[in-house]
Amino acid sequence: MTHRVLIADEIKNLVEPAQLADLDITWLPVSEPTPKGDWVAIVPLLTRWVGGTELKHLPNLRIVANVAVGYNNVDVVAAEMRGVMVTNTPDVLTDATADLTWALILATARRLVEGIDLVRSGKWTGWHPEQLLGMELRGRVLGLFGAGRIGQAVGRRAPPFGLRVLYAARTPKLEFERETGARRVDMSQLLAESDIVSLHVPSTPETKGIINGEALARMKRGAILINTSRGDLVREEALAKALERGHLGAAGLDVYTDEPTIHPRLRAAPRTVLLPHIGSATEETRRKMAAIAVSNVQAVLSGKPPLTPVYS
Ligand code: NAP
Repeated sequence: MTHRVLIADEIKNLVEPAQLADLDITWLPVSEPTPKGDWVAIVPLLTRWVGGTELKHLPNLRIVANVAVGYNNVDVVAAEMRGVMVTNTPDVLTDATADLTWALILATARRLVEGIDLVRSGKWTGWHPEQLLGMELRGRVLGLFGAGRIGQAVGRRAPPFGLRVLYAARTPKLEFERETGARRVDMSQLLAESDIVSLHVPSTPETKGIINGEALARMKRGAILINTSRGDLVREEALAKALERGHLGAAGLDVYTDEPTIHPRLRAAPRTVLLPHIGSATEETRRKMAAIAVSNVQAVLSGKPPLTPVYS
């Protein structure tokens, strides 16, 4: 029996054709709205909102297999009430996203973008002892807000750079503490004591806008903010102001509140490294993400439990 499924057109080249056996696929580009019809599964990108209206328009839906670990683009409560499974793609993207977080830490601390711009402009006049002085990492404090899979992977990369690790999380992570010497603190201590604050909590009603003007003011003068989690954790205009005033030393961002739009003041702010949401963007990881999403669909459609449900 073939099942009618909607799959994001953008992952077409990443899925193994053998995985698509028995599926009657409608490839759905991001530019098109979610259609109404009798599809039993949808494999959306994180840019597609799947809420009450979409669920109503897809009355036979059995699974939303998101191609991301974050699932703030899905109304999970509405899906659960309708008996629709929701799955995500954890683990496979942890290392890629942690590596990119480190790329941002190093790029902001050592002023890579300003250096590249200087060389490219042809205005570089040669080695100078006070040129583009950055932050020495050894002896500094890395503060992780959120210490799940990615937060911990970022923290595990810190000791070789000589950074001490603090983290704020709802539950203690004892194994992580043993491995890295990390110490659990509350949010206000994290902000006040860290030289680099890196965000790794999901976007939820509790975390949205948590890095606002007040939180930024509590950060150390010259500290660096890194965000590879979700853009709406940060109030972009407040961040731009903190950078303009020189209160923050730098910001390294991969994600934004209203992608692909970036608050114009933030786009123009000094000392930023702004990436286009490429945390998980390695060939291997993107293939694995696509494979897990489709495996979740295949499992649910054959009456088995999904591999990576977001609720049980
Ligand atoms: P995870 O393993 O679920 O970790 C999230 C952590 O956040 C958990 O440890 C959780 O704490 C903590 N948390 C949740 N709400 C909190 C709160 N209100 N206060 C303090 N801590 C809170 O998820 P992950 O795999 O590490 O992914 C994290 C996020 O990264 C995803 O949600 C996604 O948005 C983002 N992401 C972005 C990219 C990218 O391309 N830039 C790629 C992958 C993921 P407890 O353990 O105590 O419950």
